[in-house]
Amino acid sequence: MSVFNNALAQLKKAIQYTSLKPSTLEFLKRPERQLQFSLPITMDDGAEKVFDGFRVQYTSARGPYKGGLRYHPQTNLDEVKALAFWMGIKCAVVNIPLGGGKGGITIDPKKLSQAELERLTRALARKLAPFIGPEQDILAPDVNTNPMMMAWIADEYSRVVGKKVPGVATGKPLEQGGSAGRTEATGQGGLYVLNELAKKLKLTPKKTRIVVQGFGNVGYNFAKLAYQAGYQIIALSDSKGGIYSKTGINMDPDNVMKDKKARGLIGGCYCIGSVCDCKNFTAVTNKQILELPTDILVLAALENQITTANVGRIKAKVVFEMANGPTTPEADEKLAKRKIIVVPDVLANAGGVTVSYFELVQNIQQYYWTEKEVNEKLKPIMVKAFNDIWNKAGELKVPLRVAAFVLAVDRIGKAIEARGKF
Ligand code: NAD
Repeated sequence: MSVFNNALAQLKKAIQYTSLKPSTLEFLKRPERQLQFSLPITMDDGAEKVFDGFRVQYTSARGPYKGGLRYHPQTNLDEVKALAFWMGIKCAVVNIPLGGGKGGITIDPKKLSQAELERLTRALARKLAPFIGPEQDILAPDVNTNPMMMAWIADEYSRVVGKKVPGVATGKPLEQGGSAGRTEATGQGGLYVLNELAKKLKLTPKKTRIVVQGFGNVGYNFAKLAYQAGYQIIALSDSKGGIYSKTGINMDPDNVMKDKKARGLIGGCYCIGSVCDCKNFTAVTNKQILELPTDILVLAALENQITTANVGRIKAKVVFEMANGPTTPEADEKLAKRKIIVVPDVLANAGGVTVSYFELVQNIQQYYWTEKEVNEKLKPIMVKAFNDIWNKAGELKVPLRVAAFVLAVDRIGKAIEARGKF
């Protein structure tokens, strides 16, 4: 199954609720530009190898293309096209003036040394140089790419164009023009959305149980901030399994992180320093954690976690998608039938791209904000995006995901039509 066909199916579903012209739909069904590169590099042992690189610039109707760069053995043009489309949707959901793009290299980065990865990333930046820039297309980290690589890209691009241009990539280290608050941004944005949802559902944090799957950048920061806001964290997990508070005792994610660092895994006991409680807490498998009784199930690990195989056993009242694509389209329909609310990825995790946009703005104006200022600007954007989508879902009587796509497609389509005839 083509991932891009899934994206097109979502587009078609959304467009029926808009008054956009058929020609606008035809335009939106295709990326504006697809780039494919051969990337020859010399390996550390002197061998010469050639890798395949891609960049899809899907829509620039609302602003320059924006999106991450993925290094993965399965990366291909079809996947990159879908991801570029979804980036356009996400930026339109939070109503920031950016379009959608995505790139990647078909590669297992674990098989390359740091020096080889640097040569490859710089080779890609040189090939991309005529097509990217703060006013054209802005790159960012994604699966297996990181702030260091963004610094390489900004540096190589700056050498090619002969001036310092940090705004060609976001998610950079602070010392190279990164933004304060970027590391926590996705979790922070998710918490602002959760707080709004709690108001609608009349949930009080103290009585709201949360299970979090995934304990990386997004899962850990989300869990930490939700705990600090008073929500009850009753289960946490990473790729090796998780911990569940059988009796509903709240867990401080910082204690779990310290224990994970000390022992290399999230164990079955809850330890505060060297004092461990193994009576009220138990180990859970990756399969079990998704099926625990809870108010909110936060998915912050990988795609395709709720499928037709386990959707019938989900007991959460709300599925909160902090990861990208954690629910398959078939499972999504079944959750809707069971009246389980799904807060879609394009809204829940959009705090990340929003602070990337702030990073671009700070780079362009050469004036940097404190973390407090960043969060003060992030909050109203997330709150408005949630309420726009909630109201649209109520008006059309559709799930939040459909409402998010309707709003986003309508915004992108109207921007296309506002330019006049093709
Ligand atoms: P990460 O690599 O830092 O963390 C991933 C976590 O998931 C790790 O703790 C890993 O152990 C865990 N994991 C892997 N398989 C698991 C399994 N089967 N069960 C439980 N846990 C498992 O990645 P991240 O940056 O936190 O990204 C997580 C998701 O959020 C991805 O889908 C990513 O695309 C999405 N996302 C990230 C950002 C961001 O700013 N980092 C922004 C938007 C969306």
